[in-house]
Amino acid sequence: MSGPAIAIAGLRKSYGGRAAVDGLDLTVERGAITAVLGPNGAGKTTTLEICAGLRTADAGSVQVLGLDPRRDRAALMPRLGVMLQAGGIYSGAKPVEMLRHVAALHANPLDPEELVELLGLDGARRTTYRRMSGGEKQLLALGLALVGRPELAFLDEPTAGLDPHARRRTWDLISGLRDVGVTVVLTTHLMDEAESLADHVHIVDKGRLIVSGTPDELTRAGNALTFSAPPGLPVSTLTGALPEGTEASEPTPGHYLVSGPMDPTTLAAVTSWCADLGVMPDGLSVERRSLEDVFLELTGRKLTNWGLSAPGPAQTGSGT
Ligand code: ATP
Repeated sequence: MSGPAIAIAGLRKSYGGRAAVDGLDLTVERGAITAVLGPNGAGKTTTLEICAGLRTADAGSVQVLGLDPRRDRAALMPRLGVMLQAGGIYSGAKPVEMLRHVAALHANPLDPEELVELLGLDGARRTTYRRMSGGEKQLLALGLALVGRPELAFLDEPTAGLDPHARRRTWDLISGLRDVGVTVVLTTHLMDEAESLADHVHIVDKGRLIVSGTPDELTRAGNALTFSAPPGLPVSTLTGALPEGTEASEPTPGHYLVSGPMDPTTLAAVTSWCADLGVMPDGLSVERRSLEDVFLELTGRKLTNWGLSAPGPAQTGSGT
């Protein structure tokens, strides 16, 4: 099979005249874990719901596994696993019963008993859904999305409210899905989750894509090298000696900042520039931005130029 798992172009969806998704372009590769990050209300759930055929778009095109989620819903649904944010279910059924029920709708389901064990829901086997804890319900919702052995799983905040053990088990489960070729699209507010799980990250805000890249690309683009030295050194000559896309400045007298993609060549250029000037840099350190830093910068309306661009046309982390 070829082509992306999901191709979204110019997607728009408004509720009561207010845009929730506002011209979103986004591509999801097959067989990888993609995290969609964004502040509350950025339009992530709406986008997932449109992709899963649960909502109609106002405009734009959405292709999921090469199909139209609304028009081809019957063909697409058995191939998707969908876990939306908790709520709505009020059931007297127990976990295995619920999993069996959904498994029966699929041609080649996972074994509900094994899934209960894998999810760590053993202790809740005899508990009816309505009496299960919030975390147990969350795990069961994940199980219900996966029991049909989907090709593509939409997981909306799959680990929200889980304790650290359950979260770790869920991460393992999600990585295991990728290992067997399942495409996973998840949303999360946990940046460490995206950083450790996702192959690709899309940051959206106000219904638009702001930036895409691997966690490594996104965090590397914002690296900073800092040191102290006597004030007034000729930073333009340092910028000239640095690899393209990297820039040197002296934000406050005697404090120097090199920003941009960081590699050993950059470090060597800085130290040899200092050596040429006969200067010993003090407190030289390379700081790697976390995904959280990137997220806060990009969605905090306080954009600084450290390699990624401001909202507008979507950017790719690599090479920008
Ligand atoms: P969160 O991270 O908080 O889950 P999100 O990125 O998933 O947010 P959405 O749930 O897609 O955001 O919501 C986007 C916007 O659309 C929000 O302002 C929300 O209030 C609004 N919205 C979503 N669903 C509806 C609805 N059915 N009717 C009216 N407004 C809605």
